[in-house]
Amino acid sequence: MQRQITSFSQDQDSHWTARLDCGHLQHVRHDPPLVSRPWVLSEEGRQTQMGTLLDCVQCDRSELPGDFASYKRTPDFTEMTVPAGLRADHRTAPGVWAKIQVQEGQLRYRVPPLAVDTVLTPGEPGIVVPQVLHSVEPIGAVRFFVEFYRALSL
Ligand SMILES: [Zn+2]
Repeated sequence: MQRQITSFSQDQDSHWTARLDCGHLQHVRHDPPLVSRPWVLSEEGRQTQMGTLLDCVQCDRSELPGDFASYKRTPDFTEMTVPAGLRADHRTAPGVWAKIQVQEGQLRYRVPPLAVDTVLTPGEPGIVVPQVLHSVEPIGAVRFFVEFYRALSL
């Protein structure tokens, strides 16, 4: 899916990488004649690319960024107390990932934009991708909570 560039940094090999608003890093090399991105070589040039959209396949695969950490969690919910807002299509804010952790029972997890329709169980968490519509539905008795993740550096 398309994500916006929010900053640039260099990796240990001095290759330029773009941080996207989902939290993923993507190389933006200038490697002519294969890849031509002369703008990446100057601070001015990089500034002109802020907000540009790049295709993020890591988001398409629901991969939580490696340098993200859990910072809060919901109370435990059951089939009796699951908020209506979680049953309806909803989404997290930019840069906010989450894990749906089932402790007992089963929870249906649907993410229509990613063609995901699955059943979460203990040990099989659901990954929530920033800004992507999703919903949950208890399958009988269930107990679960949602854990939120964001970049450690923010
Ligand atoms: Zn991404």
